[in-house]
Amino acid sequence: MTATDTLAAMALGLLDGSIRVVDCSAPLGPDTPLLKLPPELADDTPKIEIHEISRYGDRGPFWAWNWLKLGEHSGTHYDAPHHWITGKDYPDGSVDTVNPQFFVAPANVIDCSREAAEDPDFLLTVEHVKAWEAEHGAIKEGEWVLMRTDWDQYNTDEAKFLNADETGPHTPGPTAEVIQYLMDEKKALGWGSQCIGTDAGAAGGFAIPFPAHNLLHKANRYGLASLTNLRELPAKGAILIAAPLKIVNGTGSPIRALALVPAT
Ligand code: MN
Repeated sequence: MTATDTLAAMALGLLDGSIRVVDCSAPLGPDTPLLKLPPELADDTPKIEIHEISRYGDRGPFWAWNWLKLGEHSGTHYDAPHHWITGKDYPDGSVDTVNPQFFVAPANVIDCSREAAEDPDFLLTVEHVKAWEAEHGAIKEGEWVLMRTDWDQYNTDEAKFLNADETGPHTPGPTAEVIQYLMDEKKALGWGSQCIGTDAGAAGGFAIPFPAHNLLHKANRYGLASLTNLRELPAKGAILIAAPLKIVNGTGSPIRALALVPAT
């Protein structure tokens, strides 16, 4: 099958509905949960603001439009290598310089929803990933690895989504070893989470603090956060479209993440 045939088959599938588009982004607005940093660090990313410029009225009789105030790392979003000090020197490490070929890629979806429901501090291990590969097939070079936790069920409630107490936030994520394995051995494209960031809530206290951020971006690879609806994706077989805005020197960007899946 030539690439032209493949695209034609895909076009047919999109038109006849046998390929379904799953929306993997959360609503982006004033109620979007945002990361909270410890008080000794810099200001938090600001609450999202949507300001009306005009709406079919005196200031613009025929049109409606808004202007926005939002941080790059707001809502369902993309982390570029320049987000972390370990990736700061890559010439193609900002959202406007990443090769767009990497914005469309196969997705491996590792279902950790049961474990996350039982333990909000659940950490995915290399053993768990290898067992998943034995069942579903190997993770291949250039593919996304997405941790399904169904944490998106909380994303309309910031307190539940962040799940913080006096000991800090409690949300599931990867061990450092998993990210190292995915970068060094699997050459994965990146790592996606359904929580507020790519790392576990407790990851600031790990031996390598925030290992997903540290190791993904050190490898000039990418992160996705606050993904939704991963329960609708197969373990393998989905194509994920995750393209950041082309913000000049941007370290990340909200995205409309879309997964192409078989309808059946
Ligand atoms: Mn981020």
